[in-house]
Amino acid sequence: MVMHLRRLGITDDAILEAMQRVHRHRFIPAAFRGSGDYGDHPCPIGHGQTISQPYIVAYMTQRLRAKPGLKVLEIGTGSGYQAAVLAELGAEVWSIEIVPALAAHARAVLDAEGFREVRTRLGDGHAGWPEAAPFDAIIVTCAPTGVPPELIRQLRHDGRMVLPIGLPDDQRLLTLRKEGDRLVPEDDIGVRFVPMVRPEP
Ligand code: SAH
Repeated sequence: MVMHLRRLGITDDAILEAMQRVHRHRFIPAAFRGSGDYGDHPCPIGHGQTISQPYIVAYMTQRLRAKPGLKVLEIGTGSGYQAAVLAELGAEVWSIEIVPALAAHARAVLDAEGFREVRTRLGDGHAGWPEAAPFDAIIVTCAPTGVPPELIRQLRHDGRMVLPIGLPDDQRLLTLRKEGDRLVPEDDIGVRFVPMVRPEP
């Protein structure tokens, strides 16, 4: 997997080593595990959701410039795998998930795999995590149709946000840097993520 990621342009050795150390298959619920757990494709984790493909995890982590001590907010805990990769790199991670069963699964796996320091919360990511703000970086792993304003507020000046934006058939993965109250685009590739949903009334 790591050689494949290197060929695709993931040059940060710390990220490649962290991804080698985190056991991706343990984050995939037993019912969905199979021989393809380390292939470069998304895998189902139940509730219509997927764990992102390794390349996208590596790419987003590289664009965030994750490093020891970086304070990161993740929206869309899902399986917990992306949060674990960030924590393995030494980042301080806060992560929010809207589906209760996934939030519970991720918490259990993070604890079992030694990532007790990752903070998780059940809730709607549109609101961010105001008590812990500001964050040095924000990673959104589901796709909103626009940048949620509360997340812009909770990002520190000069901080980076990496997120997919748009509808399933027309999505861009953006890297944005905050300058004053503005977000300045740094990078943009085409991708496909699950939508960022609103809580049911
Ligand atoms: N980062 C995950 C992949 C997550 S898939 C991993 O490493 O496995 C996207 C996740 O975003 C799903 O679990 C979905 O339930 C969640 N999600 C969608 N809308 C959300 C919202 N408004 N707030 C928080 N999480 C949300």
